[in-house]
Amino acid sequence: MARVEQVCRLVLSVGALAVIAVLLGSASWAQEMATSSHSKPRIEKGLPGKREFQNRPTREFRPPGVARAREAAGPRQERIRTESRLGRYANDLETEYPMKQPQRIVTVLLAIIGSFISQTVLSQTSKPKVVVLATGGTIAGAAATGTQSSYTSGKVTIDAMLDSVPGIRDLANLKGEQIANVGSQDMSFEIMLKLAKRINELLATNDVDGIVVTHGTDTLEETAFFLNLTVKSDKAVVMVGSMRPSTALSADGPLNLYDAVAVAADPQAKGRGVLVVMNDWIQGAHSLTKTSTTAVQTFMSPLRGVVGISAYGKNDFYNTPSWKHTTSSEFDISDVTKLPRVDIIYGDVDMSPDLIDCSVRNGAKGIVIAGVGNGNMNKASIDAAARAVKQGVVVVRSSRVVTGTVGRNVEVKDDELGFVASDELNPQKSRILLSLALLRSHSPEQIQQSFATY
Ligand code: ASP
Repeated sequence: MARVEQVCRLVLSVGALAVIAVLLGSASWAQEMATSSHSKPRIEKGLPGKREFQNRPTREFRPPGVARAREAAGPRQERIRTESRLGRYANDLETEYPMKQPQRIVTVLLAIIGSFISQTVLSQTSKPKVVVLATGGTIAGAAATGTQSSYTSGKVTIDAMLDSVPGIRDLANLKGEQIANVGSQDMSFEIMLKLAKRINELLATNDVDGIVVTHGTDTLEETAFFLNLTVKSDKAVVMVGSMRPSTALSADGPLNLYDAVAVAADPQAKGRGVLVVMNDWIQGAHSLTKTSTTAVQTFMSPLRGVVGISAYGKNDFYNTPSWKHTTSSEFDISDVTKLPRVDIIYGDVDMSPDLIDCSVRNGAKGIVIAGVGNGNMNKASIDAAARAVKQGVVVVRSSRVVTGTVGRNVEVKDDELGFVASDELNPQKSRILLSLALLRSHSPEQIQQSFATY
C-alpha cells in the first residue's frame, strides 16, 4: 500500500507540474492571441518594475506599449534573472515542442484529469482501511413510524446503514460485509465463531487496519468478550450497537456508528483489546455490561470505568484494559466448530437444586451459578453443585449482583468442594470464558487460573 501511495504522490506532483507548466504556456499563447495582428494591440497595465512585469515569460509578442514599459523597467538581462525557473522551463518546452491550440487544450485537460485522479486515489489509499461487519440488532432495526416502541431488529443492510451516515466515508476507506442479520437474542456460538474467524482472516492482511462490528445490545457484551479472547491481532476491533432503531425519532445508531469507525481508524485504539463504542463512551470488552433495558446510556463498566470517549469522531483515550486479551490470549478457535454446553443457573431465595441436576443430566460440561451476593446459593444447591463436580462438570460461582468481585473461599469452601470463583466476570461472561477454557482443560485449578487472567 505504501508503494501505491508513493506512486500516487509522484503522479500527483508530476500532474501538478504539468498543469502549471502547460498553463504558463497557455497564458503566453493566450497573450499572443490577444495581441496578434487580428486583435488590437493590448496596452500593459501596471507600473514599470512591478512584479507582474518581472515574471513575464521571455518569449512573447511585444506590442509597442509593452516595449515602452520594458525599456522603463531596465535592461533585458535584469528581467531575465528575475524570471521564475518554472516559467523558463515552460518557455524552453514551448520553444522545443511548439503546440497548436487544440493540442494545448487537450494537454491541459489531460493534466488536470490526471492530477484529479491521482489526488482521489491518494486520498483513498492514505485513509485507514476499516471493514464493517454487520450482524444485525436494533442499530439495523426498523419500525413503521418514528415514535412507536415496537420494531424488528436486523432489517437494514450494512450498505444502507453506511450510506445513511453523513461524513462517515471521510474517516476511513470503508467496506461493509454482512455476517448475519439477527436480533442479538438470537446470536449463537455458530455466528460468533464465524465472526471471529472472519476478523482474524481480515486482520491478518495488510489491507485492513481495523474492524467495526455492528451488533444488538442484548448480548453485545458476550460477543465482545468472546472476540476479546479469540481475535489474534492487536489492530482495533470495535463493537457498536444502538438502543433505538434506525427509523426512530432521534435514532442513536448513526452517531454511534460514526464514532465506532473513528475509533477503529485511530492508531491509538490498537492493543487495547476489543472496544465497545456507544453514546460517546469507549469501553473495554472485559468490564462493560448492559445496565438498562431501554436507556441510551445503557453500557457501564462499574469496576473499571471507561477506556475513553469519542465525541463526533474525536477520540480521547484514558486507559488500557489490563486483563489479558487478543494477542496474549491462549484461546485459538481456528479449528473449532462447536463449543461445549455451559448453562447458567440463577440463584435466588429458596432456589431449586434440581435445576443443577437437570443441567448435568442434559449434557452440560460446565455450570455457572448466578449466585446471590458473593456468589452464594442455599445449602441444597451447594450439595447439588458438589455432586456435579464429582461427575466432572466444572462449576463456576458468579453473582447476580451487577458490581463487585466473587472471591474464593469467602463463604463457600471452594478448595474443599472444587468450585471456581468468577472474580470480576458476571455470569454471562463467565459462561463465555468457561466454554472456551473447557476446550483446553476440565481441571478446576487450571480454569480458576483462567478466571484470574482474563
Ligand atoms: N434486541 C435487540 C438486540 O439485541 C436490542 C438492541 O439491539 O438494542 O438485537
